[in-house]
Amino acid sequence: MTQTYRFHVGGLECIAINDGDLTNYQASVFFDGASDDELRSALAQYGLEPGLFPFPCTCLVIKTGQHTVLIDTGGGAESREHGLGHLMDGLQAEGMSAADIDTVIISHGHFDHVAGLTDENGASAFPNARIIIPRGEWATYVPEAEDDDYAQMTRKKFLAVESQVELIDPDIEIVPGIQVVATPGHTAHHVSVVASSGDDCLICIIDAADHAIHFEHIDWHAEWDVDPAQTRASRIKLLNLAVDQNALIHGFHFPFPGLGRVSREGNHWKWLPYSPDED
Ligand SMILES: [Zn+2]
Repeated sequence: MTQTYRFHVGGLECIAINDGDLTNYQASVFFDGASDDELRSALAQYGLEPGLFPFPCTCLVIKTGQHTVLIDTGGGAESREHGLGHLMDGLQAEGMSAADIDTVIISHGHFDHVAGLTDENGASAFPNARIIIPRGEWATYVPEAEDDDYAQMTRKKFLAVESQVELIDPDIEIVPGIQVVATPGHTAHHVSVVASSGDDCLICIIDAADHAIHFEHIDWHAEWDVDPAQTRASRIKLLNLAVDQNALIHGFHFPFPGLGRVSREGNHWKWLPYSPDED
């Protein structure tokens, strides 16, 4: 059963849709820089143990009234065997279909964010959408991609929807109230999304952090982050923005629905998970 969760950010109607959970990663791969003891104690604060690390993937739909925007596409039908690919079920459970999405924002080129761009036949999964891709992420995979399976897969996905693609350079407003901001580090051209309505603000950090532990230990990073110093700088930028705006944060890989706020405490930030009573 696909999990979905509705919430509001000012006048924006938001729906978190769990695309599924990846379950085959060791915790240690997300926290390079931590000693075994440090990691054990950081995990324990969240009721976790070293070993396999739960890694949910949660896409967001934002309805602005004029636009229906999807942020990242999950793993698509071909990722079902890896536990992903449930976005379409979630849309259906919420009374929507892929045809209702008029804007797709892609944060970066990793498979859990882009593989859902096409359906099981290789055709565009979101036929009516502008597909927003950071120019630098596109250039990483097209015209040439590294010769590994994941890079080739992303290249194939991007090219399959090329006629719908609009390449952008952050920082830029995509539709009224929804901006894409540069947060490099996880990948060279990774972007995050900031949605605002009135005094309310939602910051989708995507993979700038994989878990709230990264807010308390901003130097720890996933093994595959291409530039850890940039990851750290991007986190600080997002966290300062979140504190200044008293913004709601959404983490793509945080425990479902991935929502919370942060408070600043000296050199680190404390995660305050979202309470449904807030809405
Ligand atoms: Zn990811």
